[in-house]
Amino acid sequence: MTDAERQAALDAIGVEVAACTHCRLHEGRTRAVPGEGTAATEVIFVGEGPGFNEDRQGRPFVGQAGSLLDELLASVLWSRKEVFITNVVKCRPPGNRDPEPDEIAACAPFLRRQLEALDPALVVTLGRFSMARFSPGARIGQIHGTFRAAAAESGAPRALTFAMYHPAAALRQGSLRQTLFTDMQGVPMALTEARALRASQPATGSMPSPVLPGVAAEPVSPPPNPEIAPDSAAEAGTESNPTAQLGLF
Ligand code: URA
Repeated sequence: MTDAERQAALDAIGVEVAACTHCRLHEGRTRAVPGEGTAATEVIFVGEGPGFNEDRQGRPFVGQAGSLLDELLASVLWSRKEVFITNVVKCRPPGNRDPEPDEIAACAPFLRRQLEALDPALVVTLGRFSMARFSPGARIGQIHGTFRAAAAESGAPRALTFAMYHPAAALRQGSLRQTLFTDMQGVPMALTEARALRASQPATGSMPSPVLPGVAAEPVSPPPNPEIAPDSAAEAGTESNPTAQLGLF
């Protein structure tokens, strides 16, 4: 698929999401929040569901948690323009409660189709509801900061998935802020691994299933979409990015 075809598929999904009445969440929404970013990316961030600000603006992660996500991206020299950001449910659960299983199930085809359109190398999950879709049965306290093959049924059979706490959790519990920043340093490394694995895999079929160790050693920043972010791409070749100096990206 070309990037234009991917974008067209994402746009079509967005139109359907905006008109969706498949679950009760549509009753209270101001605007649905399909997601945003570039179709020309290798990385998708998946949160839980829109909050108050997202519901008003129709955009993901634009409140306080969004500011923290922007900071996290900046800490590895990425920006939201270089990735795609969406949620497990596309309409705001009332009072920001957790999404119910039937609401997650009703929205699942949209997320699956977004993943199929993007065919990402890396899915970064933000919080346990997102993690559960890509690493069923895992516990976030045990796997945050690590990556593994994404569950084939997620719609991203060729992707690695990297688990992170939800940024909102760090707003509630300050000690998690440092954990988030530490974990984020492992995301570019996970992308490097994902690229290598995809290069060794046929175009279809799932990744090997064993859990892979998440490594957060050096802060490397391969841009997930160098064409869109020439500045970041340039920065990726600086001293802070030894892997890029090796010409791997
Ligand atoms: N929290 C989420 O999970 N998603 C958003 O878009 C905003 C806050």
